[in-house]
Amino acid sequence: MGNSKKVLEIKKKKVPLKGMMDNVMEQFNHAADHIDLHPNIRKILSITNNEILVNFPVKMDNGDVEVFTGYRVQHNGALGPYKGGLRYHATVDLDAARALAMWMTWKTSLAGLPYGGAKGGIKIDPSLYSQSELERITRRFTYALADNIGPEHDIPAPDVNTNSQTMAWIADTYMSTRPPAQRSANQHVVTGKPDGSGGLEGRDRATGFGVYLTIKFWADKNNMDLNGKRFIVQGFGNVGYWASVFLEQDGAKLVGVQDASGSIHNQDGIDVEHLFNYTQEKGGAVANFPNSELIEKDAFFAIDCDICVPAALGNQITKDNASKIKAKLIAEGANGPTNVEGEKILLERGITIIPDILCNSGGVIGSYYEWLQNRSGEIWHLDEVMEKLRKKLKGSFDRVYNYSENEDVDLRTAAFCIAIQRIEKAYVQRGIFP
Ligand code: GLU
Repeated sequence: MGNSKKVLEIKKKKVPLKGMMDNVMEQFNHAADHIDLHPNIRKILSITNNEILVNFPVKMDNGDVEVFTGYRVQHNGALGPYKGGLRYHATVDLDAARALAMWMTWKTSLAGLPYGGAKGGIKIDPSLYSQSELERITRRFTYALADNIGPEHDIPAPDVNTNSQTMAWIADTYMSTRPPAQRSANQHVVTGKPDGSGGLEGRDRATGFGVYLTIKFWADKNNMDLNGKRFIVQGFGNVGYWASVFLEQDGAKLVGVQDASGSIHNQDGIDVEHLFNYTQEKGGAVANFPNSELIEKDAFFAIDCDICVPAALGNQITKDNASKIKAKLIAEGANGPTNVEGEKILLERGITIIPDILCNSGGVIGSYYEWLQNRSGEIWHLDEVMEKLRKKLKGSFDRVYNYSENEDVDLRTAAFCIAIQRIEKAYVQRGIFP
């Protein structure tokens, strides 16, 4: 235990903390100190199991060939097959994939799923490519990953800028490269597929629903009525949109949205469905939505509100804006949106953070249900899925909340401690081969 702490301190002096990897390692070491994690297990969990980097060529619409770089990082598989999304974004690199894979390990462990953690993607701005180019890029990436993914080995899912269509292409490519008699037994190589192709009813809204539920559970514990409460959302993709839908259904009011196109604000409320329809016409962008004022990027987190839902990228809430935040509650729909320095300021100010590995775990829990469904050939209905999700998340939420009260630690530390302890137990039971 002492050793790793020393290593981290030395590292801190040399390089300023800024990457997502530094962030997740600080969170991990903080929780590991709290539970006095065995030094051998700390060593194992401090590093990733496998890192796959593939460079692959794809023919563009104009006949030129472009070479892309794709990643898949498998952090830890002690609890089961690796699990986690694939993102298509300019910020994807080895450091980002490592950090995001680690968060997946803690997330699946905390949720009590039989999975390890992985993450990957392609360093690409997908808006620069046509749909048929994206299809060829995705299929060729799948082919390049080959047996590094698999339904009982490593199961990708949607993440930033990937969706059910992306997953359908991956599943089809992977299944097409298997011997004929094995094809349909490989459908669960990815989750988040479309409803008609082995997807799960409700997987589309699972992450946003989970974000909403954890807010609701917290509000119930703290005698807060969501009716009339104002919330802001960073990122109006799948997670931001669905979280907004469910919060609005409970009477909460969306007063600000930020995405890459701009930041919009209206204290009287922004109608979620109107905004969604508007973004559908504008290639996903929220800027210039009619019933709102376009505000400066830096003014977004300072909007007067009760709840803030960062649902975009990592490292968004930092020491530069944490002191300006007006919300009393931050619900992390994104992975790693608050860095360690930002979090320190928020906690000192008495602001509660529902940590990513709990808050957005509805997505991977939904993925688990899809995987089970494919494995057993069953088809579950929406009501059933939503009810199962609600029960599972309530269990996770209560465990984290109670741990935080009993041990007098913040919710993130509580969530990490529970997640790490489950993995520690598996290692203690099984030992280290040979
Ligand atoms: N990309 C999502 C996440 O970060 C979902 C992962 C999954 O379903 O495997 O949790």
